[in-house]
Amino acid sequence: MELRQRVLELARAYRRAQAPLTPQRLAEGVGLRLVYSSLSEGRFGLVLAEKNLVLIDPQSPARRQRFTLAHEVMHLLIQQDEELLSALHEAHAGQGLERALEALCNLGAAEMLLPAEVVRMALAHQGPHPRLIPQLAEQHQVSEEVVVIALAEHAPQPIIALVAGGQPLRVYFSAQHPLIPQRLPRGAGFRRDDPLVVALETGLPQRATAHLPNHPQPYRVEAYPKGGRVYAVYTAPFCQKD
Ligand SMILES: [Zn+2]
Repeated sequence: MELRQRVLELARAYRRAQAPLTPQRLAEGVGLRLVYSSLSEGRFGLVLAEKNLVLIDPQSPARRQRFTLAHEVMHLLIQQDEELLSALHEAHAGQGLERALEALCNLGAAEMLLPAEVVRMALAHQGPHPRLIPQLAEQHQVSEEVVVIALAEHAPQPIIALVAGGQPLRVYFSAQHPLIPQRLPRGAGFRRDDPLVVALETGLPQRATAHLPNHPQPYRVEAYPKGGRVYAVYTAPFCQKD
């Protein structure tokens, strides 16, 4: 069984069954009651399975809350799918299993909130341009993380999509196409002459060849600065056309 495909199908079926996807309906479809409650530092959501409750931090931004809620719902949907669970355990173990599970829950959550057909249509019109990240987030009222995950999944060629910000500039979140094995850790920094840093400092979009920490090969990168953040799409070299 192709795990990612199965997770996307689960998410799609859930979105249709629970439409319109209000926070309450999102939670109720898996038998959970939604409660807003402050959580410990760094946590945005928590499922208390024995009480059938899902807790969401009311202080996090509204779009972040929806993504967190959809992510927690995906945990339950995956847990209830025996075939998917056993395929997951066959493919991964230990820490790798946990990472794979979290990534699958993110993938399903993104699909619930931002359907693949919307993303594919935007990609067909504009190509995998980083401006799509703030644009689709605004148009569809989803967090930028959702768009990053969806772009990396549905782009026709292997890409890494990311949002960076802060001073000094660092990675807020990123996602990569399934064919790119190396991950880019949250919080990773950039050299002073990196195209993303140049984009932030000049306010001008950049196109260049760039290296990423732990990635052996260079990438083509497009960086798009907006509102104090830099959005970037890295294209893997083995599928470059120019
Ligand atoms: Zn999780």
